[in-house]
Amino acid sequence: MNQQDRALIEQNSLFAGMDFAAVEYMLERSTLRDLAAGDKLLQPELANHHLFLILDGELRVNLIGQATLEHASLNAGECAGEISLVDGQNPSALVVAAKPTRVLAVPHDTVWSLVDQSHEVARNLLAIIAGRMRRDNSALISSHSKRAQYEHQATVDTLTGVHNRRWMNEAFPRVLHRCALDHTASTLMVLDIDHFKRVNDSYGHLVGDVALKALANIMQLNLRPHDLLVRYGGEEFAILLPGTGAEEAHSIAERLRTMVAANEINSGDATFKITVSIGIAAVHHEGKLEDFFGAADQALYRAKENGRNRVEVAS
Ligand code: GH3
Ligand code: MG
Ligand code: MG
Repeated sequence: MNQQDRALIEQNSLFAGMDFAAVEYMLERSTLRDLAAGDKLLQPELANHHLFLILDGELRVNLIGQATLEHASLNAGECAGEISLVDGQNPSALVVAAKPTRVLAVPHDTVWSLVDQSHEVARNLLAIIAGRMRRDNSALISSHSKRAQYEHQATVDTLTGVHNRRWMNEAFPRVLHRCALDHTASTLMVLDIDHFKRVNDSYGHLVGDVALKALANIMQLNLRPHDLLVRYGGEEFAILLPGTGAEEAHSIAERLRTMVAANEINSGDATFKITVSIGIAAVHHEGKLEDFFGAADQALYRAKENGRNRVEVAS
């Protein structure tokens, strides 16, 4: 064994504070192993009877069944395989050489006799395992919060912050099913901005976006927590009002309509108001979501025909 390897072994965190005789004892029972990039050192399906001290190179750790978990890397001075040393089970991770890597393979029984001889080694081993647990925990937490973030982004419209069509396709049928079980009436509204092209033409698309955000904000503030608001087209919104009959929905729609019409939008030099037209359809226990959308759309069309800034109910 060369001087450099020897120095690395003596510096390894597991053997910090261990005396010279103990190092000799361990070296006599251990073997050096050279890995090429891509070689597997530990595999969950294979029993492991060694603790590996990394002398040079780099190992990658892939937690099993967690393809999205961040890969940890282990470098010279660290060790691998300490979990199966302690619990006697197969490795918990796949450990692969990221580049040419040299390790010292110390048989488990040799490590245990060192532990028996030295409190220092026992303490060091506990510290290494605690470090591993912390690292794995933080990898789990960050992968979990990333996933939650991606899921949120996939179902929320970035401009207005309200849910998108993708979310609607999942949420509306679920709520309708619930209402069918409870035998409660529900109502669907579709809402479209009147002459929105003129807003874009007069003030520009960015100001149009400000108007869309203002509209979404008014609706979010004035609907009830259980109402389901969705931006399902460019300037078209759908609102499902669970447990709400057509009459009550009509007054909710009227309230929204007047609030929107009264709200002044300011963006740069532009000051203006917008109006909306709303179509309402009762949702029955039998029947499909598309049919209710069809009926609400027809009512919306009538609201447009009859002069806009109106609410119409499907017959
Ligand atoms: P109507 O009263 O008949 O609804 O007239 P309208 O001009 O609103 O006509 P329509 O609903 O067909 O037009 C929708 C317009 O909305 C066209 C498009 O330029 C604009 N629009 C759609 N999505 C966005 C968006 O995200 N931002 C902006 N600024 N404009 C949008
Ligand atoms: Mg439209
Ligand atoms: Mg429109």
